[in-house]
Amino acid sequence: MNTIYENVNNIRSIISRQAALAGRNAAEITLVAVTKTVAPELIQDALSAGVTDIGENKVQEALTKNTRLGTAAHWHLIGHLQSNKAKAAVQLFELIHSVDSLKLAEAIDKEAGKIGKKQRILIEVNVSGEESKFGCSPEAVIELVRSASRGNNLQIEGLMTMAPFTADKDRIHSVFRGLRELKERINSEQIPNVVMKHLSMGMSQDFEIAIAEGATLVRVGTAIFGGR
Ligand SMILES: *Cc1c(COP(=O)(O)O)cnc(C)c1O
Repeated sequence: MNTIYENVNNIRSIISRQAALAGRNAAEITLVAVTKTVAPELIQDALSAGVTDIGENKVQEALTKNTRLGTAAHWHLIGHLQSNKAKAAVQLFELIHSVDSLKLAEAIDKEAGKIGKKQRILIEVNVSGEESKFGCSPEAVIELVRSASRGNNLQIEGLMTMAPFTADKDRIHSVFRGLRELKERINSEQIPNVVMKHLSMGMSQDFEIAIAEGATLVRVGTAIFGGR
């Protein structure tokens, strides 16, 4: 097995190559190392290899690790969030990728207000329509962005999605393209306080496709740390 250092460098060169192929600047694509279930020592190896951004699924697990690793990295919440954990999430995470209801957006807004923070968020969209997935429906996203944008302590910066579990590359392309088109549509609505710049999409199996379709945040776990 390769070392974490080699894996990180390998992924970086794939990102550069795919960006070039898509006529994009690789500097606009951030590698978010997904560290769920990964021990702090191994996360430290990834940080030493130049990883700057860490993605965790669970608030409590992230808190424990953050105590060990400190704030040398940018912390992202990529997993489902319950409103009753909004307080802890706001304290720790720079960017919350998984906002999929107005109730959750309002809970985050309220907790961010209490600590004088402008919380950066993304709206998670279930583009593929699979029942097993979290995320608001593509039809509901504009209304959710409009309502959530009224929260004074929120900054909505983009959209997040998960590809369907399939080997069909065309299908994955079309889901990621769908998210990009939604982002463009929302920007054309010119909603006050909303500038959608981020697309969080692509994991170990499909981040190359995601880059071709405009991803600015790729969330990669297994390809860095091995199987969970
Ligand atoms: C686990 C996870 C990832 C990373 O998946 P890998 O296949 O290990 O790269 C990305 N995004 C979310 C939301 C995840 O839960």
